[in-house]
Amino acid sequence: MGPYHPECPERLTAVSDRMIASGIDALLAHYTAPAATREQLGRVHAASYIDAIDAAVPESGLHFIDPDTAMNPHSLTAARHAAGAVVLGVDLVMRGECTTAFCAVRPPGHHAEQRRAMGFCLFNSIAVGAAHALAAHDIERGAIVDFDVHHGNGTEDIFSDDPRVLMVSTFQHPLYPYCGTEAPASNMVNVPLAEGSGGEAFRAAVTQRWLPALEAQRPLLIFISAGFDAHREDPLAGLKFTEADFAWVTRQLVEVASRHAEGRIVSALEGGYALSALGRSAAEHVRELAVG
Ligand SMILES: [Zn+2]
Repeated sequence: MGPYHPECPERLTAVSDRMIASGIDALLAHYTAPAATREQLGRVHAASYIDAIDAAVPESGLHFIDPDTAMNPHSLTAARHAAGAVVLGVDLVMRGECTTAFCAVRPPGHHAEQRRAMGFCLFNSIAVGAAHALAAHDIERGAIVDFDVHHGNGTEDIFSDDPRVLMVSTFQHPLYPYCGTEAPASNMVNVPLAEGSGGEAFRAAVTQRWLPALEAQRPLLIFISAGFDAHREDPLAGLKFTEADFAWVTRQLVEVASRHAEGRIVSALEGGYALSALGRSAAEHVRELAVG
């Protein structure tokens, strides 16, 4: 995204360093993400949009899609592999090779709409994975959980009014992208949180709003848009979660998955820009996924 941009390569180093330091890495099997195919991307993005992103790759330097979102010569490759990671995660858990998967990817994806890149996102990786589960694995009912501090407008755009996919989310409001609160579709459980809200408000939202909706959906596979920018140390927003809150919500989701989905969860990194807090939070999230 260019120099001094919060969505930086060091984010993934922070995650992997902390996984190793905390001993969690030794519990994991590692896979290399393939690139998502055009068919896989085309399940959630318009063909004309995919063509436009392909054509926007600069030969050198940066091409700005919006003031927040830029592409360098390698961004398209990274975005295709980020989406491909979620597809591979779906294949692994559906084949029974893994029970849960975490995709340590960038760029993030949940702001990317069917026809628009925004908010550091080019392709909506979690949506590509969910659409793959529906199309290639005959998953009749799924759920996407999004606890990134920003509303996952792209995922909402893609799955609104598709009852096969329940989306439950929390996000700081008002905050970028300034939507998600006005008449969401019936398969969208959007819970805005006021600036300054901490773990208590988050856990109440999960308990009172998410869990009943998830129990009613009985998802056969759970996806997580795992953004860690609601952490109290994050510089981009004003919620006050801690890594204990991310561990707690992951535990709740593991329990839902064990009841309805044979434990299957595919999680993908979204935001999280305070490097130390990102690493700690992702490590606790993955620990809960790994130990089940
Ligand atoms: Zn975010």
